[in-house]
Amino acid sequence: MYQHQEYQGGPISLPVGKVACIGRNYLDHIEEMKSVVSESPLLFLKPKAALCDMTTPLSIPTDQGECHNELEVAVLLKHPLCKATEDDVLAAIWGIGVGLDLTLRDVQRNLKAQGQPWERAKSFDLSCPVSGFVPIASFDDLQDLHFTLEINGEVRQSGHTAMMLHKIVPLIAHMSQTFTLDAGDVVLTGTPKGVGPLLAGDTIKATLHDKITINTKVFR
Ligand code: ZN
Repeated sequence: MYQHQEYQGGPISLPVGKVACIGRNYLDHIEEMKSVVSESPLLFLKPKAALCDMTTPLSIPTDQGECHNELEVAVLLKHPLCKATEDDVLAAIWGIGVGLDLTLRDVQRNLKAQGQPWERAKSFDLSCPVSGFVPIASFDDLQDLHFTLEINGEVRQSGHTAMMLHKIVPLIAHMSQTFTLDAGDVVLTGTPKGVGPLLAGDTIKATLHDKITINTKVFR
């Protein structure tokens, strides 16, 4: 059973909640997908069964077309947020990690063509592997974080939180105007360019600034 973990530490005593996500939060990814900038943030949810530990080999669906990496900065909440202010959000963040918004790209393309929501492409079990979390006090500026994803030794994604269209704290405040966020929920903050298919046996290295380095792989 998945439990939130401290990076280089033990379990965090918070329940495991849902994952709240934003699509299209980096211009370079919007361009690579030939999508358009959304006027208001494009939000979607993954259920708690999506969460799993990124350090154990990733189990990805193999019979539904391509499953793409989307490395994102992940925020763990320790307090509920309902119609929150930015100050409320700052007080509610336990810490920061990285997560993969695994996406069945072929399924998503079909859903988009039919005007259907994205759950089948993005909200399947184990679709959100996350790292351990580093306490918020360790970060000076959440919008000055570099993060990278290497697949088989080659850099596939290299992002910086300064490039977000919707910054982390106002984004979470905005989400909470629509749905209540709970203690133990995780917020994924969008992916930069460099999405592509993951294959059985791929080795994966994910980093967040000088705080987190995760080495893992796709289950063979
Ligand atoms: Zn994403």
